[in-house]
Amino acid sequence: MVAEIIKGHKRYYVCDECGMGYAKLELAKKCQAWCTKHRSCNLEIIKFAINAKNPCVFCCAKVKRRLGLKNNNKDG
Ligand SMILES: [Zn+2]
Repeated sequence: MVAEIIKGHKRYYVCDECGMGYAKLELAKKCQAWCTKHRSCNLEIIKFAINAKNPCVFCCAKVKRRLGLKNNNKDG
């Protein structure tokens, strides 16, 4: 299930598998479908994530590098 989150006046959708949030339901559904099937994240999808600083549970280290985020903690 894709979760719908309402924060202030913004609404976004969260992939239940990896926790990535998307402004569009379609993207969250795509992400969820991918995650469920492959147990990994598709960078073509998660590049649209609005909370990419909260990395994917499957491939956090990889994702962080690809998104150019700082690696502040040692998990993943
Ligand atoms: Zn996902």
